[in-house]
Amino acid sequence: MTVILPGATIGILGGGQLGRMTGMAARSLGYDIHVLDPDPECSAKAVATRLVTARFDDANAAAELARECDVVTLEIEQIHKTALDAVEQVTLLRPGAAAVFTIQDRLRQRSWLDRHGFPVGPYRQVTTADECAAAVEALGYSICKAPTGGYDGRGQRRVRTADEAREAWAALGGGRCIVEQFLDLELELSVLVARREDGTSLVYPPAVNHHVGGVLDWSVCPGPLESPIQQHAQQIGHAIAETMGIVGLIACELFLTRDGRLLVNELAPRPHNTYHHSERGSATSQFEQLVRAVCGLPLGSVRSIAPAAIANLLGDLWSGGTPHYAAALDVPEVRLHLYGKHSARPGRKMGHLSAVADSTDTALERVLQAREALTGRE
Ligand code: ADP
Ligand code: MG
Repeated sequence: MTVILPGATIGILGGGQLGRMTGMAARSLGYDIHVLDPDPECSAKAVATRLVTARFDDANAAAELARECDVVTLEIEQIHKTALDAVEQVTLLRPGAAAVFTIQDRLRQRSWLDRHGFPVGPYRQVTTADECAAAVEALGYSICKAPTGGYDGRGQRRVRTADEAREAWAALGGGRCIVEQFLDLELELSVLVARREDGTSLVYPPAVNHHVGGVLDWSVCPGPLESPIQQHAQQIGHAIAETMGIVGLIACELFLTRDGRLLVNELAPRPHNTYHHSERGSATSQFEQLVRAVCGLPLGSVRSIAPAAIANLLGDLWSGGTPHYAAALDVPEVRLHLYGKHSARPGRKMGHLSAVADSTDTALERVLQAREALTGRE
């Protein structure tokens, strides 16, 4: 197994907050960081010795980044296949191009899960307005999702009727689409798996996640779940990482339906918003774990050392001016994490709050209280 020791250079495809926080962890371990991102003012700029400013379909730029790196990882899966291949021709890409290619398209990902026997909810692949309408007639209340480019609930439409389905299909670009039956959810959870080249792997305890309008609002870990559900979720995550041969991290978003089914919603071959509390509540943060996994170092313990919670801070919070930072930081055991983004557009993830406590309920109360305090209201 290749071991890449501190002092080496790690490349990151993508310079958003996940790249920034990975870069911070890598720097703590003594690695140098190079980043590729289309935005010259991206979040990860602050931790990058070298920033290659290029689009994610620029194979030459990806190769240029790779030439100076001992290993390249990624913080976003929407990297064009030619750029992934270009990196792999020059240096190690972890996770590899094949896994990222499978995951980066919702339809390809869903059929991979289905084909390998992982539990997923009822869905149809459609390519025309009529097929989309027929799928909604068959499945009932549904969500139509564009296969690529969507995140934080974008690129999706909830539909009830055949007419709405036709409209949604056109609004989503009028091409291939996935139509998923809208599931009656008890709760949403996620698991994070770290895996090395030699097959050694560890699965974090599941997080329980709350979304508002398709965007993660808060997450707690270890999620308050019955132990069979917890174990089943971890088994699913572990089996996906094995089957896909992931080297690095893979996050699995899961649904627990009201009728007790545990279903895979989607996968991400990178750090994940629902494990930001690992910086506080886990023996090893997800960012350090990614570095360890891609460098072939021993994986760190995934043991929960304290119940933890995070709450996301969206751009909307900045609409009334600078948030009341001091008030939020006054809440016991709360930390503020800001991503250094320059424009606070509504819906944009600008940062998060994290807290630990004696229970996840109290940790959650703290981050929600701190978020309320940011608005400056009583
Ligand atoms: P994104 O890439 O934007 O995270 P997701 O497919 O995870 O896309 O959808 C975002 C959120 O929308 C989910 O976390 C969940 O709250 C809701 N959602 C998505 N698909 C379904 C579904 N089939 N049934 C019920 N809720 C869903
Ligand atoms: Mg999701």
